[in-house]
Amino acid sequence: MQRRHFLASLGAAAATSRLSLHGEDAPGTARLTLLHTNDTHSRIEPFGAGNGAISGKGGMARRATLVKQLRAQLGNVLLLDAGDVFQGTPYFNRYKGLLDYKLMSMMGYDASTLGNHDFDNGVEGLLAAMAEAKFPFVSCNLDMKGAPSLAQRVQPWIVKEFPGLKVGITGVCVNFKGLVAPKGHAGVIWLNPLESLKPVVKLLREQEKVDMVVLLSHLGHDLKGSGWDDLTLARQLPGVDVIIGGHSHTFLEEPVRVKNEGGETLIFQVGFGGVSLGRIDFTVSRGVVKAASGASLSVTN
Ligand SMILES: [Zn+2]
Repeated sequence: MQRRHFLASLGAAAATSRLSLHGEDAPGTARLTLLHTNDTHSRIEPFGAGNGAISGKGGMARRATLVKQLRAQLGNVLLLDAGDVFQGTPYFNRYKGLLDYKLMSMMGYDASTLGNHDFDNGVEGLLAAMAEAKFPFVSCNLDMKGAPSLAQRVQPWIVKEFPGLKVGITGVCVNFKGLVAPKGHAGVIWLNPLESLKPVVKLLREQEKVDMVVLLSHLGHDLKGSGWDDLTLARQLPGVDVIIGGHSHTFLEEPVRVKNEGGETLIFQVGFGGVSLGRIDFTVSRGVVKAASGASLSVTN
């Protein structure tokens, strides 16, 4: 989307959210904005010079400011992350992810899923960092029976409620094989994401009666047939409204739309390192997404 058009739609979204605050939406209609990151990789500070197109971009303080501004403008907002918060800068070597989770908590993240690098210091290292996280972790394709402390901290799905709107959030992780050393994920077994998701989506829709299902995916956008990815999953799995992707560090300018037997699933991913913040605005009416549009917001001064 061109910047001019996006700014126009931002203005429209702000105007309509004010309308909804005054109760002028059609009955049973609600709006929700998802803000999201993926593969932030311990990029606490902005990228320095000499990093090409991403030079000077990113930084957690600037992300916090942007999120705060958007939250003040909009009504219903969820701030989400699709995994691989760990590894990438000396901050990780020193603080082992505790600093990242602490800052994410201060920013008010609503949920995150786990990526392969989040196991870089093993299950014990992950649990130690999670002590600083004041938000839930979701993943439905990790069998954690052999790691009960982690199983306590990671939920297969959660439900977030807003006035007139119930949102189910679940997550999936990439296959550990070749990415995480066996001792790194001791007690945790990777399971097929499609088979793991089917019963969760059914439960969210039929029992929890959510209006929307959001999937935080650390599978990768398009692995060209080398494994499960967001495109393959979206084609085969009805009932998910949006996949917030990660792992492949794919820079998308706006969400990709995939048709399936349930209708349409949006897929979005915003590169890596926190250089961008994803934004998707939804209008939902009685359990059906009526409209959705999104853009990648550059995190700069
Ligand atoms: Zn990854």
